[in-house]
Amino acid sequence: MSKRRKLRMRNIIKKAIQSFRNRNEPTCAPIYQPSTKVRRTVMVCISVCLMFMVCGNAWSMGSDLAKALDKQEQRQKMVAVIIDDMGNNMKGTKQILELPVKVTVAVMPFLPTTKQDATEAHMRGHDVIVHLPMEPKQGRPEWLGPGAIKANMTDDEVRAKVTAAIKDVPYAIGMNNHMGSKVTSDKRIMSIVLDVCKEHGLFFVDSRTNYWSVVPELAAAKGMPPVRNDIFLDDAHTLAHVNRQIAKVIEWLDKNDTCVTIGHVGVSGMYTSSALRSAVPALKDHAKFVGISDLVHSVWGWKGKPINTTIPSDAQ
Ligand SMILES: [Zn+2]
Repeated sequence: MSKRRKLRMRNIIKKAIQSFRNRNEPTCAPIYQPSTKVRRTVMVCISVCLMFMVCGNAWSMGSDLAKALDKQEQRQKMVAVIIDDMGNNMKGTKQILELPVKVTVAVMPFLPTTKQDATEAHMRGHDVIVHLPMEPKQGRPEWLGPGAIKANMTDDEVRAKVTAAIKDVPYAIGMNNHMGSKVTSDKRIMSIVLDVCKEHGLFFVDSRTNYWSVVPELAAAKGMPPVRNDIFLDDAHTLAHVNRQIAKVIEWLDKNDTCVTIGHVGVSGMYTSSALRSAVPALKDHAKFVGISDLVHSVWGWKGKPINTTIPSDAQ
């Protein structure tokens, strides 16, 4: 090969190599190749975002669960058991006070154990209300007890009797009627009774001894809870009857959100207390045991401030 030819060949090879090198050079904008550090930063950011999303969902689920539980709590049915005729050391008094659930004791004023029963009930966490004797259509006057309200009393007499009764029962947060089939249908008298209760921060529970009672209507008109008894537990004095009535309370709770039920100490006191104690688990399956004050607060928003919140000096 001539020298000239060799030179030409060398130039051709040189150009070919140059051309090959040029092909490896980028011909357009470089594709972004992140460094390891940048890749790490991006991964951390993505992880943090994912974590926030997961936590956000968990928070939202937790919040939904809390709302559902609140709703369930709001929807929980309530049973308020009121036990009448306390204050005279009648049969079943101790057993009622020792029930393992919250009840409401209705204590008659001016009787030998009025203050003792009211104070012990309060100390045990039960609600206390005044059980005010009121004249019935029938029945013996001696069944009424001291401090009774009678249909022939003047307005001032009624006011004085109700005020004295409230002051005699420590820790009373409300009132209901003992007997009273005559007086609870008397608009004049019941209007005064409710006014005095309201002035002292008390509500009034209509025991429903009279179908024609004016109490719920009057109470509603005065901005007080129109609360009343739904079922008497022991209007017949046998254990079987009390058990049947407790079954009715459960049936009632299947259809209603609240039940106010009234039992007694005295003739049926031992039956009522033992039937109630046995029925606590079954009743708890259907509703929460509440004091009557919890019920009127929850259902009607009652915010009365009762005056009897301390132990009177003569209460022992
Ligand atoms: Zn009574």
